[in-house]
Amino acid sequence: VGVFYRPLEKIAAVIETYPRGIAGFRRYQELLATDPEIADTPDAIEAPALKGDIRFENVSFAYSEERPILRGIDLQIAAGETVAFVGPSGAGKTTLLALLPRFYEPTSGCITIDGLPLDRMRLNSLRRQIGLVSQDVFLFGGTLRENIAYGRLGATEAEIREAAAQAQLTSMIEGLPEGLDTIVGERGVMLSGGQKQRVAIARAFLKNPPILILDEATSALDSQTEREIQSALDALAVGRTTLVIAHRLGTIRKADRIVVMNEGRIAEIGSHAELLAREGIYTALAG
Ligand code: ATP
Repeated sequence: VGVFYRPLEKIAAVIETYPRGIAGFRRYQELLATDPEIADTPDAIEAPALKGDIRFENVSFAYSEERPILRGIDLQIAAGETVAFVGPSGAGKTTLLALLPRFYEPTSGCITIDGLPLDRMRLNSLRRQIGLVSQDVFLFGGTLRENIAYGRLGATEAEIREAAAQAQLTSMIEGLPEGLDTIVGERGVMLSGGQKQRVAIARAFLKNPPILILDEATSALDSQTEREIQSALDALAVGRTTLVIAHRLGTIRKADRIVVMNEGRIAEIGSHAELLAREGIYTALAG
């Protein structure tokens, strides 16, 4: 954990919601340290406040030369839209979304937000505006308050409590002997999967980014927890461009659009009803 703290100011904006998700955050950290391509270019600008109009233009990507993962992705997402990404395991959903915070660079093609190519913007100023919530949340050994505040260093007590409430954490906090001062993580109170997810959601509320990437949990939660998390996520998505790697039919049906990925390409795009009518891959997946 010590490694995280030294460059804390610089990377807090990135680590925020989860350092291990989205195609291996650990690996990403190694890249950050070693890969000059992911550094700022000398003429990179401070990103303006983004609205979140996202375009992928003929984007291809490979982790290694011999094996292309994404092939010629063209996709336009309007600011404020919620788009669900579905498709078989290995289709490239996670990889595609990992390109947005520039965890990896496309092999070819271009990604823009509000018309600005990603690499025109300073990395920190880009990542500050992208929230990540996944099932693979990183909690460090510290108080619950510190873990939530990780979403935005310098948040006030009132802001932290507000974010906790928005993430439906209040009743859990009240049930802990020392409330927000309770030590969590390996040396403290172990949180359940659902509780950890809510900490991630609270961090994202604090961060308040215009763009949100959600990696929906595949792990089973009890139905009450499930509902609470779903309603917290719904509230979180309001007013933001939301890209969700979706596993639940409820999420998929509510999305403005569904992108069906298969073998590194976009196979189908449309609403739930449109895709069902097409009787293609989506229909097969939904069945
Ligand atoms: P799932 O639904 O199972 O998460 P996915 O559609 O999100 O799948 P990706 O995780 O993007 O798919 O993976 C696409 C392909 O890229 C897979 O074949 C995977 O093995 C490979 N891959 C993913 N991450 C890496 C990595 N860091 N290095 C090399 N290959 C990787």
